Formats: sequence, C-alpha cells, structure tokens
Amino acid sequence: MPAEHLQLQIVDVRPPLSFGDLEVNMRTGLLTGRNVGYLGCVGRGGYLSGPSVIVIHFTAGPGDARKSIQAMNQRRVSSHLVINRDGSIMQGVPFTRVAFHAGKGVWWHFHDNMNSNSIGIELCNLGPMWRNRKRELIDSYGIKRSERTTEWGTHKNAGKFDLKKLLDKNYDKVVAQGVEKPTLKDCEWEVFPDEQRWAVQRVCSLLVTRFPSIKHIIGHDDYAPERKIDPGPALRLESLLSWVPSGRVILYQDDHRRPGYTSSLDSTSYLRNLVTSRTFAAGNPGRDIA
Ligand SMILES: [Zn+2]
Repeated sequence: MPAEHLQLQIVDVRPPLSFGDLEVNMRTGLLTGRNVGYLGCVGRGGYLSGPSVIVIHFTAGPGDARKSIQAMNQRRVSSHLVINRDGSIMQGVPFTRVAFHAGKGVWWHFHDNMNSNSIGIELCNLGPMWRNRKRELIDSYGIKRSERTTEWGTHKNAGKFDLKKLLDKNYDKVVAQGVEKPTLKDCEWEVFPDEQRWAVQRVCSLLVTRFPSIKHIIGHDDYAPERKIDPGPALRLESLLSWVPSGRVILYQDDHRRPGYTSSLDSTSYLRNLVTSRTFAAGNPGRDIA
C-alpha cells in the first residue's frame, strides 16, 4: 500500500483529564460550555444551597435529553442535568434550585430529603433488557430494541425487590413478547457510550470542584434500593473516583450499611462531621423520576 494511504490512528481510551470547556456560573447556577443546552423543567423547588450529594440516574427511555425533559415536565418532576448518549448536556434546573429527582429514600443522614441536598444527573439510557425466544431484545416497556447495544450484568440489589412490582403492568408486556421469567440477575443492560461516560466524569469533576460541599456521588439505587434500579450495573460509579479530590467523595460501597463500616475514602474528621453537623434543609420527599 502506498505510504500516502497509510493512516496511523491513535485511539486514546482514557477519559479526558479535565472538565474541558465546562464551567459553572455560580451566580446563575447554569452550566456553560460548547455542548450544553437548556430546556427548563417545570417542576422545581426552592433554593438549593450547599448540595452534599450528586445522584446519578438513567432516564429508562429511548429518547434524547430534550424528550426526557418534556416527559418529566408532564409529571412535574425534574433533574438538574440530562446527558445525551453523544455526551451533549441539557440543563433543566439551575444548580441554585431544588430539582425533583430522588423521592423517598435513605442515604447516610439523609432521610427522604435528598432533593433538597443534591444535584440530580440523568443519563439517557434504556436500562435493563431481556432476550425473547427469538433472541430479540425487549426493553422494560415490552418494546423490541434489537438495534441497541447491551452488556450482561446483575443488579447489585437484584434480590431486594420484585421486578413484577417494579415494572407494574409493563411486566406482562415483557412476558407477552416471549421473554421467559425476566429478572434483574444476568440480564442485559444498555451500555453507556464512552462520550456519555466522559461527560459524566467531566461534570462530576467540575461540580465537586466548584461545590466543596459535595461529599458523595451515588446512584439513585443506592438511595432508594427497594424501588429504584438506576443507573444500574452498566455504569461503574467507581470510575468517577479518579476525577474527584481524594478523601472527599464517597462512592457507593456495597457494605456501607454494615455496622462499623468505614470506607477507606472517609477521613475521620468527615465521619465526625456526619455525626455532629446535622443541619440540613427541610425535607422534600415525594416526587421523583426514573
Ligand atoms: Zn432515578
């Protein structure tokens, strides 16, 4: 082959090292950057100050961020950010306002008041899917999604809840498509493309830098393990760890609920703070999204 036709392509599989051109306007609470757009969520609460947690979700839908926000608006729920599969970001609620994304649950000293203490980030992703007898891929609404890319995974809380209850009337639609006994053990999960994962990493890295109050990055399924499965096993929250200041952000650890558990990431002073400074905003339970 003539030399001029040879192309050397270097593929860098590592995520970017910084938060790129993303920035937060601390006055307006808006994210800025080339790939950032805005579409206001209708449902939003009062002022949010000193958020402690970032809660990661998936949309459980096939649509992009714009469609997801439109769907949220119909239910008057909301999220600060929705990240598309190509890594572009849509902001629905400024970081200075409470979004309705987490609902009821428990995480550390937060009981049913996660919305007023957290930033919610939605990732466009269909979630769990199952193969029917014809090897077609069926999503949790009972719709064929054979064009989607998946990976195998078992949800860490698979044993904690009843899939039939979780999917409600959609469970029968999944079964009607020829899926035998759908479970959350050894099922398929839509992958999060690199561009989308990198965008989450950049955003989280930026947010923990600009909001020193943030101490945790968790999944919705960590806060509400009995009723939520997002973001699920296809998103490795641990991968966010390398982009946040060490010793500060605590990610989900399977054994965190065990008595006497201390994460290697916790500092003693932080644990002491957890016990002594229980001054957080009034509860805002109730509405949440997928
Ligand atoms: Zn969620």
